[in-house]
Amino acid sequence: MSTPFIKNHQYNVIKKQAEFILKTLRSVADRSVLETVRYRSVLNIFEVFPNLSEDQRKMLEQVSTFETAYDFQRYLSELEQYLEPYPPITPKQIEKLFPKTKKLKVPNLQSINFRFVTYLSWMDIATNKLFIVYPFEGKFIGIEGRITPTNKKGYCLFCNRHHELAFFSVKTKPSVPSADNYAAIGHYVCLDNQVCNQSITNTAALEKFIFSARK
Ligand SMILES: [Zn+2]
Repeated sequence: MSTPFIKNHQYNVIKKQAEFILKTLRSVADRSVLETVRYRSVLNIFEVFPNLSEDQRKMLEQVSTFETAYDFQRYLSELEQYLEPYPPITPKQIEKLFPKTKKLKVPNLQSINFRFVTYLSWMDIATNKLFIVYPFEGKFIGIEGRITPTNKKGYCLFCNRHHELAFFSVKTKPSVPSADNYAAIGHYVCLDNQVCNQSITNTAALEKFIFSARK
């Protein structure tokens, strides 16, 4: 059995590097440029894996050896078995994270492929609310806020890629406990969280937002 060691966002890094090598293969004739790109791609991948075993290094290094789109595609699908899925979660656990929300609409968890999830997220269209559940150090953190589609494309805070955006705003704890004027933090994020989860290559911005939005 294969031991999972690749997180979704790390898999996205491998995917991105594979795409870049393929693009270079198609556009650059100079072999030395190509070799440099191949070499750098492996380094870029290693950078996001702090503790690789020798076998895992060899497996990831292979990305630099392919020639065709088919080779890359096959390689990426083979890596899928090494993906560390989002930790198991039940609708009850989700409900407990949002005690103040009555009639919480929990998403259909069976329909989600948790291998490709960095953060679990869903929208309640009736109330214009976005919910995010993020696993951190063996626990789950839940945040909720108002979501407003912008009908525009731009850079998402979480994945830093150019996608269809929505404005996500979360009320935060007032600095003075008795104060009734709440502060809020807001950012532009992907409207489609599935697209975002397939693009995110670094969790720093997402975590920073979640920690400052956490009540
Ligand atoms: Zn995004």
